[in-house]
Amino acid sequence: MTRQGNLQAGEPVLLIDRKKRRYLIDLKAGGEFHSHSGVLAHDEMIGQPEGVTHRSTRGMVFIVVRPTITDYILKMPRGAQVVYPKDLGAILIQADIFPGAKVFESGLGSGALSTAMLRAGANITGYEIRDDFLEIARQTVRRFLGEPALDSYQTSLRDAYQGIEGEDFDRVVLDLPEPWQVVPHAEKALRRGGIFLAYTPSIIQVSQLHEAFEDSCFGMAETVEVLHRGWYVNGTAVRPDHRMVAHTGFLTHARLLAE
Ligand code: SAH
Repeated sequence: MTRQGNLQAGEPVLLIDRKKRRYLIDLKAGGEFHSHSGVLAHDEMIGQPEGVTHRSTRGMVFIVVRPTITDYILKMPRGAQVVYPKDLGAILIQADIFPGAKVFESGLGSGALSTAMLRAGANITGYEIRDDFLEIARQTVRRFLGEPALDSYQTSLRDAYQGIEGEDFDRVVLDLPEPWQVVPHAEKALRRGGIFLAYTPSIIQVSQLHEAFEDSCFGMAETVEVLHRGWYVNGTAVRPDHRMVAHTGFLTHARLLAE
């Protein structure tokens, strides 16, 4: 769903106060946002454009904008550890996700990666072994992309290590502890030329995955990590930020070749 024009009831918005604190809320007719700096009525924001500054009852000012996928993922309720925005961008390109791509995804966790791939136009078949995470992932997708996005999100409570139902998938995208267990299933489920991508926090997992590729029809395997360093820019004080998210996970991808 593309949300444009003036803000409407039912959509999430991001409030940013003078101290750059960020709050993610869902606009509701008659709703109120309460904080230690007073109350802000949702009706004041509904029907207004993005980027407008509103004032709470105690005089605190808030800028109101629609959340980007980054804002949303960092602020939404999470069950499992999400894939960070810096990696989501790289995954979309390395797995070469395109509109209409038939993608198998597992596990679903908090649904951050699902949301990014659905928005890029993927049609996802997703397996998750925990029913609470399955529900959280679906909520995440529904809240950010709207109800119709669920039509492209077929999820099941299933163990990806036991097999993948269906064939002719364009992509297999994994964020689970032992992706090598899925390699033989992905060989059957992917079409030739299809891409397998796994996100793993530890380099030991990377080695084990590459070993599994050795005994398979997967080739062209590569592993990368994404380093993303912010900069502080203020007049003549221009330098890298003191802090950064130094490590999240490794991205390993390979392609299914002919036997
Ligand atoms: N990529 C997700 C986070 C996934 S966390 C996001 O961006 O939000 C890893 C998930 O894999 C957890 O929810 C866990 O329950 C699930 N999982 C672990 N082993 C699995 C398996 N064998 N089959 C399916 N899901 C599995």
